Amino acid sequence: MNDFRDSAIQKILDSNEIYIASHVNPDGDNIGSIIALGLALKKLNKTIKVIKTDEIPSDYLFLPNIDMIQPYEITNGNLFIVLDCGDIDRLGKYKSLVSKDNTIINIDHHVSNTRFGTFNIIDDKAAATGELVYDLIVDLGIEIDKDMATCLYTAISTDTGSFMYDSVTDKTHEIIAALIRTGIDKSEINIELYQSRSIERTNLFIDSFSTLKTFYDDKIAVVRVTQEMLKKANAKMEDTEGIISFIRDINCVEVACLLKENKEHEIKVSLRSKKFVDVSRICSAFNGGGHIRAAGCTIYDNIDNAENLIVEQIINMW
Ligand code: 5GP
Ligand code: MN
Repeated sequence: MNDFRDSAIQKILDSNEIYIASHVNPDGDNIGSIIALGLALKKLNKTIKVIKTDEIPSDYLFLPNIDMIQPYEITNGNLFIVLDCGDIDRLGKYKSLVSKDNTIINIDHHVSNTRFGTFNIIDDKAAATGELVYDLIVDLGIEIDKDMATCLYTAISTDTGSFMYDSVTDKTHEIIAALIRTGIDKSEINIELYQSRSIERTNLFIDSFSTLKTFYDDKIAVVRVTQEMLKKANAKMEDTEGIISFIRDINCVEVACLLKENKEHEIKVSLRSKKFVDVSRICSAFNGGGHIRAAGCTIYDNIDNAENLIVEQIINMW
C-alpha cells in the first residue's frame, strides 16, 4: 500500500529545509494536516515552509499557528511534502513543484490519488489525511502537543462529518482519544467549526436551498450557488460549506449535488452519496475525483448544461 514509507521518513530526517504544500480550495483536513506536520517537523529543528496555494477559508482562521501558511517562492532541488492532494492539478499555481528536480512525498487518503510523488504514502482506508499525519508524527518520535492536536482534531472531525461517515474506524477514535488527552479544548474547536455560521452564510443557504431540484424518483437532489446569489447574500464561495450535507441528509436522497458557479463557464461540482453510489467514479468522468461518498470535479460549461451533464452521468453510472 505504501511505496517506500521508511525511505520517505529517512528523507525527512536527512533534510534541513522542508516545504509542505496545501491544495486549492483547502479544507479542514488539508489545513489541519499541514500545520500539524509543520509544527512537528519544527521540533526537529528543521526550517519548515508551509506553502499557501489558495485563500484560507475563515472557518479555519482560529487554528493555532495559521500564520505559518505563507505564499513562499519555491526553488528547485528541495523536499516537498504534499498532503491530502489527489492529483497535481489540485496544487494550482504550485503544480510545477512536481518535477524530477524535487523530491515529493505524497501523503493522502483519496481513492483516486494518482501517486505523483517520489514517495507515496497513500491509504484510502484512512478517514482523513490527519490520521496519516498523526501516524507519521508518532513514527518520527515527536510528542504531539496541544497545538498539533487541535489541528489534527480539526482535520479528522471535518473530513468525517464529525465522526459520522463510514470511513470512521476504531483507529479513528483511538487517535482522537490520544488527541483529547493532550488537553485540547474540543468544546471551543467544535463551536468554531460547527456553531459559528455568519448571517451572510445563513442567507446564502436559504437562497441555495430554494433552488432545490430532484431527479430519478427524488434519489438525486441538486442545488446551486451562482455569482449573483453570492452578491445578493454578501457571501463568498467558501460560505457554501455545509450546504451539500444538508441536501444529502434528505431522507430519500442517495446522491446530493452542489453546482458552484466560479465563473460563467466554470462550474465546480460537489457530489455526496449516502449508501452505495461511488461518486468518485462519476467525478473521474469529468477529470475530477475524491472519495466514494464525497467527490468533486469542474465542468467548463454554463450552469444549466453542467447540471444536465452531471445528472445524466449520475443516472448512467447508477
Ligand atoms: P468538495 O466537494 O468538498 O470540494 O470535495 C470533496 C472531495 O473530493 C474532497 O476530498 C476533495 O479533495 C475531492 N475533490 C474535489 N474536487 C476535486 C477535483 O477537481 N479533483 C480531484 N481529484 N478531487 C477533488
Ligand atoms: Mn481529506
